[in-house]
Amino acid sequence: MDQKNVQHADHRIIDGKKIAEAIHQGVGAQARELRARGLEPHLVAVQAGTDAATAIYIQKQREKFAKLGIRYSHVHEPGDATLEHLLGTLHGLGARADVTGILLMQPLPPQIPPSQLEEAIAPEKDVEGVHPINAGLLVHNRHIVAPCTALGAFAAIEATGVPIAGKRAVIVGRSNIVGKPIGLLLLGARATVTTCHTATRDLAAETRRAEILVVAAGKPGLITGDMVSEGTIVIDVGIHRLEGPPVKTVGDVDFDSVAPKSSWITPVPGGVGQITVAMLARNTITWATHAAMRKR
Ligand code: NAP
Repeated sequence: MDQKNVQHADHRIIDGKKIAEAIHQGVGAQARELRARGLEPHLVAVQAGTDAATAIYIQKQREKFAKLGIRYSHVHEPGDATLEHLLGTLHGLGARADVTGILLMQPLPPQIPPSQLEEAIAPEKDVEGVHPINAGLLVHNRHIVAPCTALGAFAAIEATGVPIAGKRAVIVGRSNIVGKPIGLLLLGARATVTTCHTATRDLAAETRRAEILVVAAGKPGLITGDMVSEGTIVIDVGIHRLEGPPVKTVGDVDFDSVAPKSSWITPVPGGVGQITVAMLARNTITWATHAAMRKR
């Protein structure tokens, strides 16, 4: 089914592109303002190794940032780089006055523990909100930035206009970068949050209770129509490229069976992924603005 052309009386498609464009407008204007004040926002993406998906993300980010007038650089380290070397790279970027944002691309090579590198990112340049200080601020609902995908999923829910407070929200996935921060954002908005994972005893029983369902499991088509109640807001964070033929990009939600039961649903592609890149730009501008304030 062509998701863009779905017309169903009872559900509506959340248009990630439209939400992203609105964010881009604000971000582009802020970038111009900062430059006029003599501060150039500058994000540096650090990649170690040759993950194919990472290369695609970097290309997309570079193109988007060029359009928004935000400087974007890429530091590409070899897959056999040592932890000490990568720590040195991150500390070096943290010390550079011309760098206002640092993005550590994941996955990292298997010999590198992500937590040690995340702790080496200067918190005031941490555009993914992965440093323990930024993660802690999110727990306290006092965050300055949060992980971009979580912000993207939350913005998709907000775009429906449906009040979040009091809703039963169910998240499938508990990763530090996606599932947990989405749960914290929803808790901050006073939803009643349940987080599911592979040890959850009866996933379908949990997802059927959801009024807002966010799926970030990394399993194509995991959620099917029988696992969702009528009228649920469904946010699909998963992105998978199926080699086909035909080659297809799908999410963690089986769109065809779930969409007719949902009140609102994000498509894949064209949903959360679009908003995530916009949030990366927004977080970059947020830290650049903080840098400008420190300069005053
Ligand atoms: P991850 O680190 O692999 O985490 C997956 C989570 O889902 C884990 O907590 C896992 O449980 C849980 N899970 C997996 N299979 C499950 C099942 N059958 N039942 C219940 N829970 C299950 O993945 P991630 O980095 O959070 O990413 C999740 C998805 O989002 C991926 O498809 C990824 O490509 C996508 N993504 C999208 C964007 C975007 O911009 N839209 C950005 C980043 C990631 P355990 O903890 O028990 O293992």
